[in-house]
Amino acid sequence: MQEGIIKRRGLMLVLSSPSGAGKTTISRKLLEREENLRLSISTTTRAPRPGEVEGIDYRFVDDSSFRCMVEKGAFLEHAQVFGNSYGTPRGPVQRMLEQGGDVLFDIDWQGTQQLRESAREDLVSVFILPPSTEELSRRLHARALDPEHVVRQRMAKAASEMSHWAEYDYIVVNEDIEESVRRVTSILAAERLRRDRQIGLRAFVEKLCAETEQRD
Ligand code: 5GP
Repeated sequence: MQEGIIKRRGLMLVLSSPSGAGKTTISRKLLEREENLRLSISTTTRAPRPGEVEGIDYRFVDDSSFRCMVEKGAFLEHAQVFGNSYGTPRGPVQRMLEQGGDVLFDIDWQGTQQLRESAREDLVSVFILPPSTEELSRRLHARALDPEHVVRQRMAKAASEMSHWAEYDYIVVNEDIEESVRRVTSILAAERLRRDRQIGLRAFVEKLCAETEQRD
């Protein structure tokens, strides 16, 4: 198969959405199904929620460690979200991309803007929208992971987050999780086949043409 012969540059798949639109579930299912896709684990100053595991969901650090990492240039991007700091560590992402692996980012619009400036050609951005305000509110309350005032704060923030939808390459309205996963999988499959991501394609086609000419 062509995929095996021609080397490919890894791509950066960003998923953004307001909290409660289903992004975390979509990410989890994608990671289960896509062998060549790894999650970029962010660093945050937010406290762990029940069930969250250090090094799997996030790397949890205090404010001064975070500031120190910013000063050292350890982040590919970083931003303040809901009063906490979040950042994408540079090293692991670069290693995964160099090995031809694709990297999934669950980051907000501020981080996506920064990645677009620093790595436009590697970036594929997808914004997930909830099907309605009622559904968004229902999902945020059903999670029951955050205190009520945090849920209210997230609802209030959702509109301003959603206003950034037009900065993204693709938009998926998440009415049904399985259908949304299929859509993001299709985006990933098509983006992997983009001509400029397939390094070595020119040499492959030149050889193909030369061999074809010699046949007759
Ligand atoms: P949560 O606290 O619910 O896990 O995440 C809150 C928001 O922060 C989500 O929109 C999530 O996408 C975003 N976020 C998580 N990690 C990062 C990161 O490393 N950088 C940026 N810019 N946003 C992040």
